[in-house]
Amino acid sequence: MSDRVQIKDGVDLSGLHISMIRALPFVMETFDRAGFETIITSGLDGQHSVGSLHYKGRALDFRTRHLPGGSTGQAAKDMAHEIRSCLIDDYDVVHESTHIHVEYDPK
Ligand SMILES: [Zn+2]
Repeated sequence: MSDRVQIKDGVDLSGLHISMIRALPFVMETFDRAGFETIITSGLDGQHSVGSLHYKGRALDFRTRHLPGGSTGQAAKDMAHEIRSCLIDDYDVVHESTHIHVEYDPK
């Protein structure tokens, strides 16, 4: 596994749920295989919608603006798809306009 993960200043990962710690290697592997750094831009910090799993430590956001075509480009879209395919169904991977959101939301 790559050690190429960066954590943006101010990101709070204290209290991160084990589900996110389990998902992280798959996310890192996907970014690494494509030749890009994994950069966490939000954990338990920041402002999210009411009831967001971020507040429970069950969601992480990953930067996409360093990908070719930027956050809304095909590479970011492909990255979200690739991460989704690595994780079991209990995870949701959402390609947002500024990042990729990964959450653990067992049905
Ligand atoms: Zn998020």
